[in-house]
Amino acid sequence: MLTVPGVIAALEAMHGHREWHWWPEKPPFEVCVGAILVQNTAWTNVERALERLRDARALDPARMAALSDAELESLVRPSGQYRQKARKLRAFLATCAGAGGLDRLLALPAAELRSRLLQTWGIGPETADCIVCYAGRQPALVVDTYTARLFRRLGMGPAAEGYSAWQEWLVSSLPAVTDERAAERYARVHALVVLHAKHLCRKRNPRCGACLLWGACTVPDAPGPRLETGGRVSRTEQTV
Ligand code: SF4
Repeated sequence: MLTVPGVIAALEAMHGHREWHWWPEKPPFEVCVGAILVQNTAWTNVERALERLRDARALDPARMAALSDAELESLVRPSGQYRQKARKLRAFLATCAGAGGLDRLLALPAAELRSRLLQTWGIGPETADCIVCYAGRQPALVVDTYTARLFRRLGMGPAAEGYSAWQEWLVSSLPAVTDERAAERYARVHALVVLHAKHLCRKRNPRCGACLLWGACTVPDAPGPRLETGGRVSRTEQTV
């Protein structure tokens, strides 16, 4: 029977070698800014905005705070909804200042950090968990529409919808580990789900022929792998 750890192992085999924009070497402030800018847009647009911020030497809390509203809005414009996003960045900077700086904010225990982020204008659960996980490197499992799409296609998931329902279901489906291992694992699980959604399990025209999960997938017309000699593998021939 297909299990969540089995799915993650298959994702690791398919995508473990790929680049991910939030692997640990990324500076924490850049992760926080990216997590806010990526709301309602594609990562490629965020990269353009980050590039402009980098060129303006504004990927630093003090330098960003010193920008005028017009300057900040202009720099983040490629990420869309630029007025709102500039305002959200200002709100995040105020939260950092209230904690005594970014380092102190990120060093708070995960629950306290998440709570302060959720009290910040423009930061919801997904953005907060991205910051806790990839900037604070503390245990927080990010779930999103990619998570729901993949596991629903595999006939898995919680009875209810919603962010908390998906997060609780996924956390409880993974083996329990120490906090330190959990932080690392959660970061990897979310990255692998996103990489799978972008490379193979796309919303339209998923590339099922290259997917190791095809044999267990419930998408009825998912085109399966091709044999080298032509024809297709049947679902019973392929196991995860
Ligand atoms: S077989 Fe296709 S639809 Fe199913 S999980 Fe793989 S890529 Fe997604």
